Amino acid sequence: MAESARPAAPEPIGIAGYVSPYPYLDLLQEKMEERLARKVPIKGRFCGFCYARLRDTDAACGFCGSAVAAHGTVEEIPQEVLRLYKAKQRTEALWVHSGAFFGLIIAAALFLVLVLWGPGLLGHPAVGFAVLIGGGYVLAQLFGTFIGAQIGYRKGARRRDRDWARWLAARGDS
Ligand SMILES: [Zn+2]
Repeated sequence: MAESARPAAPEPIGIAGYVSPYPYLDLLQEKMEERLARKVPIKGRFCGFCYARLRDTDAACGFCGSAVAAHGTVEEIPQEVLRLYKAKQRTEALWVHSGAFFGLIIAAALFLVLVLWGPGLLGHPAVGFAVLIGGGYVLAQLFGTFIGAQIGYRKGARRRDRDWARWLAARGDS
């Protein structure tokens, strides 16, 4: 087929504009967070390549696609690997919380400006409180859940992926 006949498809941009070179790490993040919170048993049968939990009948890993025969299995997820996921989780949470806090600070500043200098009805404390509560909620969502989460994801995932590359290299898988 000629190059020009192809439909123009938008480039995939991944989550928050970052495409992980290791898509299975994103799939595993939630599982690893459950393991970190000890919501699932520590011992088990894990993929020898990516450390995803395997069912007894699995011949290939459902996360990284490795054949179990090729990479074997391990009984426990290495601590160093769990640490990669924990660092990602923490970075993301820090950005969400800091962003939300920043949003609340702005709402508090708006509240003060309105109460101190708001002309006429805008200076009424009820308006100020509405801005403080409603604006605080909206701004905390905007800067935390929306903007902060995206920045946190990008920073956390980049670092996790870099550390995973190091882990693979150290293991001899590069
Ligand atoms: Zn795997």
